[in-house]
Amino acid sequence: SGRIVIVGAGQGGFQAAASLRQEGFRGEIVLIGDETGLPYQRPPLSKAYLKTGVADELELRPAAFFEAHDITLVNATRVEAIDREGKAVVAGDRRFPYDHLIIATGTRNLRPPIPGLERTVDLRTLADAARLRDHLAGPRRIAVIGGGFIGLEFAAVARALGHTVTVAEAATRLMARVVSPEVSARFLDMHRGMGTEVLLGQPVAEVTETGIALADGTVIAADMVLLAAGVRPNAELAAAAGLTVANGVVVDTQLATADPDISALGDCAVFPDPRTGRPVRLESVQAAVDHARTIAKRLVKGSTDAYAAVPWFWSDQADWKLQIAGLSSPEDDSVLRGDGAVLRFDGDVLTAVETINDGRTHMQARRLMAGDAPLTRDALAPLDYDLGPLMK
Ligand code: FAD
Repeated sequence: SGRIVIVGAGQGGFQAAASLRQEGFRGEIVLIGDETGLPYQRPPLSKAYLKTGVADELELRPAAFFEAHDITLVNATRVEAIDREGKAVVAGDRRFPYDHLIIATGTRNLRPPIPGLERTVDLRTLADAARLRDHLAGPRRIAVIGGGFIGLEFAAVARALGHTVTVAEAATRLMARVVSPEVSARFLDMHRGMGTEVLLGQPVAEVTETGIALADGTVIAADMVLLAAGVRPNAELAAAAGLTVANGVVVDTQLATADPDISALGDCAVFPDPRTGRPVRLESVQAAVDHARTIAKRLVKGSTDAYAAVPWFWSDQADWKLQIAGLSSPEDDSVLRGDGAVLRFDGDVLTAVETINDGRTHMQARRLMAGDAPLTRDALAPLDYDLGPLMK
């Protein structure tokens, strides 16, 4: 019983509400979000939705679900403060008292201090994506700032629609934070093969009325510039309330903050990596959903289980589906398998498996990495790094 307030009605906030009911929570659930409409999923915004424009398929559940599960959705409402003493969140002149508060505020676009940045467009919300679709109605010269997942997914769609596309990435390889140099190189070839111009090691110095200027003076003509240079966690609410914030809202192995009445999850939360104990913040549907389930089990059933899910991620670019099981560091070693899968190792320990259009290996990796003992190079090398023989 009691009242649980969730701030942020995105992937994780929605899942927390749904999982609380699934676990049998009988009290009040208030889900507050600053966007309009029903909670929706973001991944299609840079993929199918850009092509089809069909928005209702994005909704995580229809309106009837919220009624049937007695979840009070308060949308178009921005929470401005957390009053920890009074145990309430504040939005304008409204106060929402809580017995437990879940912070699920996600991220926003990182805005590097580049002159002319106000001329760029974002791709974070459904409203952003709808605007982008309008831009894509006629032939365009498009510049994309950032060669990460979102920039590249967008570039692939825009190029397939026949637009002229340039991607400028400050790092020396694509998706450098999250994949191996081998996979970066393959995606570079694929995008260039589609006719996309990809510039690496080139920070953007300025966005002008006619395009973008790079640090070395190169000017790329563009009538639309997409900003996709990474994100920042929405952690100001938590910081202002005196909670610990370090690249996100800091939580323990059970997604609890130092205040026993406040949890945090998803893109805005920094939690101990189950394998290494190092603080990590993940930007993935998987993390948001699994965090929400962990919190619901703790709040309803009193579960003390630590969060231990194997991270996984995907990105669709043209007809390539990249899948990553596990979590690597950019400096991890790579072992390239004959069929193209890349296994990443931190010393002897398998940290991640990267595959392209190979769902089978991806699922094998997720299953095996969930086991108690880490997978080692010593164990895998004699199998030619084939995971199949280890599946029981
Ligand atoms: P969000 O879903 O971002 O929800 C946070 C919500 O809180 C937002 O609606 C925000 O407006 C709201 N909010 C913030 N502050 C306040 C406040 N003060 N008051 C009220 N509301 C507030 N992940 C994948 O795993 N695979 C993919 O292929 C993939 N593709 C993506 C493509 C795009 C274009 C984008 C933008 C993201 C993609 N992601 C993908 C990432 C994934 O969508 C996020 O990891 C996930 O949505 C995180 O869930 P969350 O609940 O933490 O945050």
